[in-house]
Amino acid sequence: MIDKNQFRDHEHLSYFHDKKSGLKAFIAVHDTTLGPAAGGCRMWPYDSEMDALSDALRLSRGMSYKNAMAGLPLGGGKAVIIGNSKTDKSEELFRALGRAVESLGGLYITAEDVGMTVQDMMIIATETKYVAGLPQGDHASGDPSPFTATGIYNGIKAAVKYKLGLDSLKGLSIAVQGVGHVGRYLCQYLHNDGVKLLVSDIVQENLDYAVTHFGATIVAPDEILSVKADVLSPCALGAILNDDTIPNLNVSIIAGGANNQLASDYHGVRLMDRGILFAPDYVINAGGIINVSGETTGDYDVNWVNKKVDDIYHTLMHIFERAEQEQRPTNMVADEMAEEIIAKAAK
Ligand code: NAD
Repeated sequence: MIDKNQFRDHEHLSYFHDKKSGLKAFIAVHDTTLGPAAGGCRMWPYDSEMDALSDALRLSRGMSYKNAMAGLPLGGGKAVIIGNSKTDKSEELFRALGRAVESLGGLYITAEDVGMTVQDMMIIATETKYVAGLPQGDHASGDPSPFTATGIYNGIKAAVKYKLGLDSLKGLSIAVQGVGHVGRYLCQYLHNDGVKLLVSDIVQENLDYAVTHFGATIVAPDEILSVKADVLSPCALGAILNDDTIPNLNVSIIAGGANNQLASDYHGVRLMDRGILFAPDYVINAGGIINVSGETTGDYDVNWVNKKVDDIYHTLMHIFERAEQEQRPTNMVADEMAEEIIAKAAK
């Protein structure tokens, strides 16, 4: 029933159907070698249950890699609710999901993801203690965006050092696609360092803020992926690095926070062939999960979080060095390094 490629080393898979609320959800636990499986809960109007299952399997494995590379005591898991986040939400639905998470007894810790809001997570939390990333409560860690942005800033510095041999970002031009939560904090860091910012967004208010506060130059959404700059920092959408966009890129580094920037793994090869250094997204954007992880340990310590976010610089340096030595794309090297960390801990 399940394609062998998708069901790869997964430890556990549950399907929950609650007739009363209409809940239909999968929870996939990929690996718990490093700790309980953590990963967001996504609500999406999947065309079929098989599509939802595939997403849960793929995303839970991605979370194992992300948590491993961030050096966290967490495994990888994911919940997906089949439904339209605009029309199908109800308190009963989220309570049922909360009971589903609780029934796994801590094997899986959930958090907010696409289609979900903090309010939804708070309803889930009325039925289970295995929720992270809440705005209030004993160990609540709050908005993860500033930590994500700090990690991306560290990652950009690592990529600039590796590719351009520079210790400072001063005078460089950086194109930022999306100046929302993460992009705005990132632009503040880059502006403080004397970077010339080129920004794109589809919300005028966000652009106005970047112009007023960071002296940014606005670039049209359909030009940001071909604009000439030293670095491109995608902070909006996934799958933007694809057959159509890669030939037109006019940068030597891609380092940004958006999830799943490569349309497929193979596009990492295309970037390597073009001599463009790619900072694997799940490594550079781990600041948010690092912050949430501080919450799951039950003893939130901002110094521990900051140290882990700083480590993103060194982790990326290792990836860049190994990728060059082995003449392989950085995304594939990162996956392999994550698998090695998990395999070593399993011994
Ligand atoms: P956000 O919604 O606050 O910001 C995204 C911005 O991109 C918005 O301002 C939006 O208007 C803009 N945008 C949308 N389509 C665009 C387009 N075609 N061209 C240019 N801009 C466009 O989201 P966020 O929290 O800042 O997250 C940004 C990305 O980083 C997402 O891919 C998210 O999954 C990822 N991410 C976020 C965090 C976090 O801590 N928030 C952590 C890890 C990964």
